[in-house]
Amino acid sequence: MFPPMQIQGLEQRADGELCWAAGWPPSGRQSSPEGQDEGGFMAQGKTGSSSPPGEPPKPGSQLDSMLGSLQSDLNKLGVATVAKGVCGACKKPIAGQVVTAMGRTWHPEHFVCTHCQEEIGSRNFFERDGQPYCEKDYHTLFSPRCYYCNGPILDKVVTALDRTWHPEHFFCAQCGAFFGPEGFHEKDGKAYCRKDYFDMFAPKCGGCARAILENYISALNTLWHPECFVCRECFTPFINGSFFEHDGQPYCEVHYHERRGSLCSGCQKPITGRCITAMAKKFHPEHFVCAFCLKQLNKGTFKEQNDKPYCQNCFLKLFC
Ligand SMILES: [Zn+2]
Ligand SMILES: [Zn+2]
Ligand SMILES: [Zn+2]
Ligand SMILES: [Zn+2]
Ligand SMILES: [Zn+2]
Ligand SMILES: [Zn+2]
Ligand SMILES: [Zn+2]
Ligand SMILES: [Zn+2]
Repeated sequence: MFPPMQIQGLEQRADGELCWAAGWPPSGRQSSPEGQDEGGFMAQGKTGSSSPPGEPPKPGSQLDSMLGSLQSDLNKLGVATVAKGVCGACKKPIAGQVVTAMGRTWHPEHFVCTHCQEEIGSRNFFERDGQPYCEKDYHTLFSPRCYYCNGPILDKVVTALDRTWHPEHFFCAQCGAFFGPEGFHEKDGKAYCRKDYFDMFAPKCGGCARAILENYISALNTLWHPECFVCRECFTPFINGSFFEHDGQPYCEVHYHERRGSLCSGCQKPITGRCITAMAKKFHPEHFVCAFCLKQLNKGTFKEQNDKPYCQNCFLKLFC
């Protein structure tokens, strides 16, 4: 009746890849590049988003090729100062320090973040459309935004409700709990855990007032758990679905008449035809009988003793 929704995506972001400007191992991302020679250093940029055409990045081989190219770079370190090339930015020859990144060589002061124009130096950078960006600007400019905090999403991203979220910022709008494998339920653009969703939005049972999750019976202008649509007095289910209503609640025939005071005091069964009212009770005419001789009584001629009816004869014999 109310199927839960699943989180559409919980995945590692793959559209941008952190680049290392020189330095190995990459665990030393914040450390200075190694292998400097007479002030010059090599910078090796690796990119995921802008691989050359015809050479799609293969996730498994990336590290290998990085290791390989690093190895060859290290081997070349000794001769790096000899052929320094032309700066990729100003197109002038490079004489002193050289940065090698994105397949080109640069004056260190000309290898700058496309956005803030700050020198990248040995810091991490991202490449996008052939342009280098410092880490901060790259995330600010290009990372998906969390709908909850509006911050850039740098690592895992949750895609749900047509929006993106930090995993730690996608939770039940009511209780703040994260969603397990059972997913979440959506209402008016908000996500709710199963319990809160049903507590808040599911129809309530006319019998127990709790939320109805699956099957229901519609009767008496409300919905009911099938197991709750029973006589309110004796909890017997209704055979053939027929029941009696009293004050908006369903009853079996006996308890309906009991509620209405229309059960025979003699046989405790409902009175549907003729009825005798005596001693503030109701009787089938044939069950309004002398408590001693069991002869049927007339309404006007019986005697009452200890809340029981007697015929004239029995009354005289017994009590006079
Ligand atoms: Zn330059
Ligand atoms: Zn920048
Ligand atoms: Zn967030
Ligand atoms: Zn909740
Ligand atoms: Zn119920
Ligand atoms: Zn009943
Ligand atoms: Zn009766
Ligand atoms: Zn009698």
